[in-house]
Amino acid sequence: MTGLVDRLDQRLEDYRNQGLYRQRVISAGTGQLVFNSNDYLGLANHPKLKKTLADAVNRYGAGSGGSHLVCGHHHQHHSLEQELAEFVGRDRALLFSSGYMANIGVMQTLLGRHDTVVGDRLNHASLIDAVKICSANHRRYRHGDLAAATRAVAEVESGQVLIATDGVFSMDGDIAPLPELAALAAQTGATLMVDDAHGFGVLGDSGAGSLQAVGLTQSEVPVLMATLGKAAGLQGAFVAGSETLIEGLIQFARTSIYTTALPASTAAGLRTSLHLIRDESWRRDKLQTNIDYFRRGAEQLEVELLNSSTPIQGMVAGSNQRVMTWSDQLVMAGIAVTAIRSPTVPAGSERLRITLQADHSEQQIDQLLESLALLKCPIDSTDRAVIDE
Ligand SMILES: *Cc1c(COP(=O)(O)O)cnc(C)c1O
Repeated sequence: MTGLVDRLDQRLEDYRNQGLYRQRVISAGTGQLVFNSNDYLGLANHPKLKKTLADAVNRYGAGSGGSHLVCGHHHQHHSLEQELAEFVGRDRALLFSSGYMANIGVMQTLLGRHDTVVGDRLNHASLIDAVKICSANHRRYRHGDLAAATRAVAEVESGQVLIATDGVFSMDGDIAPLPELAALAAQTGATLMVDDAHGFGVLGDSGAGSLQAVGLTQSEVPVLMATLGKAAGLQGAFVAGSETLIEGLIQFARTSIYTTALPASTAAGLRTSLHLIRDESWRRDKLQTNIDYFRRGAEQLEVELLNSSTPIQGMVAGSNQRVMTWSDQLVMAGIAVTAIRSPTVPAGSERLRITLQADHSEQQIDQLLESLALLKCPIDSTDRAVIDE
């Protein structure tokens, strides 16, 4: 008799045979040069942040002890929410334990099965799963294609429409046509939601994200979600918008109600992150300098990159096997870069996902560039021998 676990065993076997099997790499202390972290500003190891956290654990304890509606809501959470709202220019903000949960909570609260989400084809998995969980209809338009988005909205016959998009796309690093999507929403009465996981802290004059960069307000983008585990260097997420949106989420978002609040120490740490994002604007400048330096160097070496002005830079390999070979070669050269395979990205666009940070040096970027340039050479056994040395 075969049961569910046996069936899973077969699926794992198939996955292995297709070259899709993924392995977790223990990252601490490998001595590798890191070009695959989302810690864009280099805050995760900031001494002030570490000190705030350590002090806060000593002061408030290790865990929050409950959900926000029971006993887990600490004044540190409350102050952080106020500061986040002010920072992104919204009336209010609500913390979630992760971006994945925040996206689900938003859609659960706003949508029912008669409504439709019109979303970019390359939206993050958490937005896609959120649509499934709230049972809304889902229309996906060609990546970044405003005409396709416009058609998709026009084709909706009944119910409300939520246009949902990543601000900065997590795998391609390009930026959504946000002003145009906002105009589309305004013209059609749809509501626009932006997931700014990769724009928060990085884009905009004070780091408030991709909406600040293009000057879109709360009335134009009523639902803003951003995560705190990337540029903010810690973990968690928040949704920002009107009083009604936030009160609605507090009452109805099941991923907020039925889950343990982040520790108060994390909230305290995030308040420090927020100050650092705002006050150490040189980190954003340095990050931009590094991005420009990397792209110029790649051009000189004829390393082809996807078109991106953000810290996320893609180098397309075109097959799962090739991208794995490339990332193995980089590991041998002491560089950690993540191979992104299908189905995370469409087949044929398998790529290296390179992420730049403010605390990378030019010398480190040079080392990366040299290794990337070597990948383009056809690999035969002699080449391999050279790389292995
Ligand atoms: C990382 C990410 C999320 C999920 O955020 P977590 O806090 O890691 O759960 C959501 N959306 C986008 C676009 C992301 O890149």
